[in-house]
Amino acid sequence: MDNAFMGNILRVNLTTGEILAEELRWDWVDHFIGGAGLATRYLYDELPQGADPLGAENPLIFMTGPLTGTASASASRYSVVAKSPQTGIWGQANSGGSFGPELKRSGYDGIIFSGISPYPVYLQIIDGTAELHDAQPLWGKTVPETEEIIQEAAPQKVTIASIGPAGENLVRYAAIMNNKHRAAGRCGLGAVMGSKKLKAIACAGKQPIRLADERAFREIARHQVELVNESILKVGFDAFGTNMLSDMVNVRGGYPTMNWQRGDFEQIDEVNAQALTDKVFVEGVSCFACPIACGRGTEIKTGKWRGNKGEGPEYETTNTLGAMCGIADMEAITMANYKCNEYGLDTISTGSTIAFAMECYQRGALNLEQTGGLALNFGDADLMVEMVEMIALREGVGDLLAEGTRVMAERIGEGIDHYAMQVKGLELPSYDPRAAKITGLGYVTANRGGDHMTGYIQGPTFLDAPFLIVEESSIRDPFTANPEEAQVLIDMEDALTVFDAIGGCKFMGILLTAEDIVGLISSATGWDFSVADFRLSGERIYNLARVLSAREGVSRSADILPARLTQDPLPAGPAEGMLIESETLEELKDAYYEKRDWDPVLGIPSANKLRQLALDDLIIDVWSSAEQQSL
Ligand code: SF4
Repeated sequence: MDNAFMGNILRVNLTTGEILAEELRWDWVDHFIGGAGLATRYLYDELPQGADPLGAENPLIFMTGPLTGTASASASRYSVVAKSPQTGIWGQANSGGSFGPELKRSGYDGIIFSGISPYPVYLQIIDGTAELHDAQPLWGKTVPETEEIIQEAAPQKVTIASIGPAGENLVRYAAIMNNKHRAAGRCGLGAVMGSKKLKAIACAGKQPIRLADERAFREIARHQVELVNESILKVGFDAFGTNMLSDMVNVRGGYPTMNWQRGDFEQIDEVNAQALTDKVFVEGVSCFACPIACGRGTEIKTGKWRGNKGEGPEYETTNTLGAMCGIADMEAITMANYKCNEYGLDTISTGSTIAFAMECYQRGALNLEQTGGLALNFGDADLMVEMVEMIALREGVGDLLAEGTRVMAERIGEGIDHYAMQVKGLELPSYDPRAAKITGLGYVTANRGGDHMTGYIQGPTFLDAPFLIVEESSIRDPFTANPEEAQVLIDMEDALTVFDAIGGCKFMGILLTAEDIVGLISSATGWDFSVADFRLSGERIYNLARVLSAREGVSRSADILPARLTQDPLPAGPAEGMLIESETLEELKDAYYEKRDWDPVLGIPSANKLRQLALDDLIIDVWSSAEQQSL
């Protein structure tokens, strides 16, 4: 098939053990491309409304995109989609490394898992042949142990995605890990995998990815790699990885510190990019076919954790396991990051949840009796590292933290939800919207909950980085909420949504234009694909995910920020006195819904918009659910 797709998906019924290959729904490919877009369309069709995210009815869908595994710059990614046990709505996570390309070369664009296995299993796919294997001896093993044991038993070199004990123990923010250190981290999809008793997927293959116009594609891809190689982005990322953002965000007063009590960290020099380089950096690490090496190969060289090696921490990890917990110890942050990877935990939610627990303890909402005698003090680095394991194994107070901040706040009560830094159950990443107000709008409109990668409006605000992938990405004054700039967020959301559909890395949105990406898509697939198609596809997929979440109960009233951000001004630092008042947020939402043509009361796409996007078949579904929920 000369269109960059393998043409088949695999269906694995874990209840019965039945495995079937099935041709792709090409009518859906035309509309939703691949990756998270296509997976969301399958999910929409196959997920019953109100299904238990950890039950047999929740499909778990792995999907690559048409560019995954090709020679274009940084086309390594695969997406995983399911109903999230953390948020209860559309859950999506994606990851780089080499698992996506290997899945595709094993013969399939994606896999849909349904049901629940009666005992732990793993799926092995080699050159089109798929088999379930007994994973009972692997249950309880960490991610590296799992990868090593599966590799030893495999007839050839395989690439593996797996869960650690956190996924098995249904920690609500468990990750799916691949290549040992890479995480499809957000939304707790590792717990969905654990609920299905699916320990791992191992892939290998030599199936060719045939392109419609191989020569044209190679020429475009070569030119883009040259562009990337000459860019300042590459220089910065190669030298410092994503942690180069630390100083940039801190200097604007948006670096969450002590569970967002402050937006600047006095000890930033201990945890910034230079500190990471000096203390733990060994070498840059790239994803498949990427000319940039933004991953950090690291080793702890001194102290009690000396000799431990791995990858990371990334920027958000450094902040959430560091300043957010009041910790300025790069070695402890690195060790906690390694443990998150080994146990299979999302580092953002892990660090944020520990920070929240520390604030609960500080305020007396959690006492020593509840913590099992642990004094959860901000700044205690050893405790923070220990907590990672306790969460993954649900030991002691770790069992409570394994539920994430939203559920913790509900259980603790006493108004502590004011300090639970989450949106729709997803813990917020490391950019304080009080220091850049449009980012607050981005957190509430992101389809998977409080997330930065959906629209990455943090780029134009905190980093002053223009994104060439949209026509206009500048934000005039981050301290001022300008409803007109909701359009910038919308354009960013739609454009970056296409990256999740094609299998590309969103960092390329800084350097490449829509014309560049369209050139790749057209030559790879043979489609007559224009810039208008690019923008329409992003918008269509974005609306589809919103409709899916609306079916699960999301409406305008769910698009809110934690009260701390709307009521408590930052007490000091470059953004001293700033907050994002609820009224301001509501004005931004009004503008956003209007520009999206979403109902201003319900916050769901109008019937007219759905028709324009060729999503007519969703109209009755979404509007009848919305009416039922508003009765
Ligand atoms: S820029 Fe970084 S995250 Fe993106 S593909 Fe390259 S190495 Fe991976």
